[in-house]
Amino acid sequence: MNIESPGMPYNFSDLEPAMSRDTLVFHLLRHQRVCFDRMSAMLRGSELEAASLEEIIRVTERNPSQHALYRYAAEVWNHNMFWLSMRPGGGGAASGAVGEQIRARFGCYENFVRAFKDAANMHFGSGWLWLVWRAGSLEIVTTSNAGTPLVRGDTALLGLDLWEHAYYLDHQNRRGAYVSAFLEDLVNWEHANRTLAELGGAEGRAQRPRVTREVERVHA
Ligand code: FE
Repeated sequence: MNIESPGMPYNFSDLEPAMSRDTLVFHLLRHQRVCFDRMSAMLRGSELEAASLEEIIRVTERNPSQHALYRYAAEVWNHNMFWLSMRPGGGGAASGAVGEQIRARFGCYENFVRAFKDAANMHFGSGWLWLVWRAGSLEIVTTSNAGTPLVRGDTALLGLDLWEHAYYLDHQNRRGAYVSAFLEDLVNWEHANRTLAELGGAEGRAQRPRVTREVERVHA
């Protein structure tokens, strides 16, 4: 298998106080790594053993008999995107080209914040909240459970985990407080801008979050 064990591009305590060390430890080791281990076990000896994570997701999504593998692979990919969507000292209004696109699509940053929070609050149950690039414009979309924008042809600029395990230790049931902390203190607009710049108008191109290249310290 060519897929590296997941890591984060920062230390577990680097996002405090907006996101606690405990939350990140449990999230990486008890959730994403468990998905990775189960995916690895299912891939061993299979025809997809040498495939990339993105290929595995695209192939298994089309085949209902492979949906257990699809869910684990998609959760590994989604969490890779989530780690890159945050950074120490992040948060605040969007900068650069993404900031301009937000003004073009939503009128102003405050309208975007309202729409992003509304989408998070209206999403029922577990899933993900995404800012994606679709057909030349930004869109806010949610996916349920392990659903991923990768199979919709969208390019994810930001991903936010809406499963309770992402925020329960820090905010209990208050999803809104978690989304506010993400926007005010964590969101990594540099990553969103880099992804948009790399897209270079090539919509629908296979997207690979470059977690492994950007990881400076992988935690065991
Ligand atoms: Fe999660």
